[in-house]
Amino acid sequence: TVRTRVAPSPTGDPHVGTAYIALFNYCFAKQHGGEFILRIEDTDQARSSRESEQAIYDSLKWIGLNWDEGPDCGGQYGPYRQSERSDIYKKYAQQLIDEGKAFYCFATAEELDEMRQQQMAEGLQPKYDGRGLALSKEEIEANLAAGKPYVVRMMIPESGSFKFDDYLRGEVEIPWEQVDMQVLLKADGLPTYFLANVVDDHLMGITHVFRGEEWLNSAPKLLKLYQDLGWEAPVLGHMPLLRNPDKSKLSKRKNPTSINYYRKMGFLPEAMLNYLGRMGWSMPDEREKFTLAEMVEHFDMKRVSLGGPVFDVDKLKWLNGLWIREELSDEQLAQRLVEWAYNQQTLMSILPQAKARLEVMSDLAPLAGHFVSGMPEYDPELLTAGKLELEQVRTLLQLFIWQLEEQRQWDKDVVFAVAKQLATHLDVKIRDFLEPIFVAITGKTSSISVVDAMAILGSDMSRARLRFALN
Ligand code: ATP
Ligand code: GLU
Repeated sequence: TVRTRVAPSPTGDPHVGTAYIALFNYCFAKQHGGEFILRIEDTDQARSSRESEQAIYDSLKWIGLNWDEGPDCGGQYGPYRQSERSDIYKKYAQQLIDEGKAFYCFATAEELDEMRQQQMAEGLQPKYDGRGLALSKEEIEANLAAGKPYVVRMMIPESGSFKFDDYLRGEVEIPWEQVDMQVLLKADGLPTYFLANVVDDHLMGITHVFRGEEWLNSAPKLLKLYQDLGWEAPVLGHMPLLRNPDKSKLSKRKNPTSINYYRKMGFLPEAMLNYLGRMGWSMPDEREKFTLAEMVEHFDMKRVSLGGPVFDVDKLKWLNGLWIREELSDEQLAQRLVEWAYNQQTLMSILPQAKARLEVMSDLAPLAGHFVSGMPEYDPELLTAGKLELEQVRTLLQLFIWQLEEQRQWDKDVVFAVAKQLATHLDVKIRDFLEPIFVAITGKTSSISVVDAMAILGSDMSRARLRFALN
């Protein structure tokens, strides 16, 4: 049977790109009566979090994609979370070493830094020089016995090139010269993406892998690992990346990229999924509005077009409008609105702040309307109603956006710490700093705490409003 998977790393807000890749893998599997698996690639312990993992489940479920096997629901090939499989990877790393297909390297970070400096001074591209290969058996054993930290790297041919057939692109050829001796096992004993991904796709019986184009150059390493381990490789296909309307790669620096943002904005999951289905693909009859079931029925992976599909929020809005008007009865829309905005969870996150200021329930709308709206409406003059000049406000907004972009965790302590640090750096009082932020986020000069509001709104919605204030 056909088995496909999506394998996100839980390192931040769930990306629309993840939903897009998931959708195409799902359609391919279901069209062939196969299975679709969710695997969590959390071997980067420093950047991965359980909250982010939960957010992946929530956002894929919200959009309407279900998986047959995964960490939350189990399956016969588990565990499906890579951090629970480290013994498996170690075993295969050892096998590769024993068979001379991988080797130990004991070089320290400083030594490798020095190597790269020297290469650059000579006008060369910095590249691992294979120094681990020069060690004798005795040296290796002495180092291991002395407990020296090491990594395991894979052997790569020095010359020639690697050819493979991409399901979407046809024959791809990459010279080995461009491929580095990839680290497979890190000094902390955990695998890198490459080893873990190959071992898991094999052991989990994955037959087809459709992943983002950014992995195309890694294909030789992955496919060589299958060979080295004596396994048949799955079929690989590299999907075009989503683009901003200016054709640059869709990125959180320019556009909201988290699924949570679109959910908070009040897009319908069906419309979202429908729009993602049109990224590089279309129905044979070119109809614009279709359901997941219809997409599965007519799906043909070979018809994916490789020119970068543009993720255009205005088009998505238009499509969403069609769904609202043509597919939902008034009763259904009413139900959606209750679930979307005035649900228990949203109200419970607002009330601890708002309750103290309520005399009658209708006080809630002016106080908390910004939790259920898109971009707030306000007179731009309000941004400079506080102590700061326009130029200062603009600098502060821009720096704040950049700093917030870097945060992988999101709660009020994080938001406050970033604000405080930046205020100190800019030598303005935190009160004065927060004044224009308040306006940008809430559209008003007074309401409940802006830091709390940002925590509740989430990173993408908060940054979108700060960017909106800059325009
Ligand atoms: P950004 O440029 O917005 O910072 P990123 O590359 O840092 O994005 P990651 O957190 O590295 O985003 O990626 C999360 C997931 O989203 C990865 O699986 C990645 O393949 C996917 N992804 C990121 N950008 C795109 C894109 N433009 N199109 C499709 N998938 C994408
Ligand atoms: N963890 C990788 C990612 O999030 C998986 C890539 C793949 O599908 O192999 O991009």
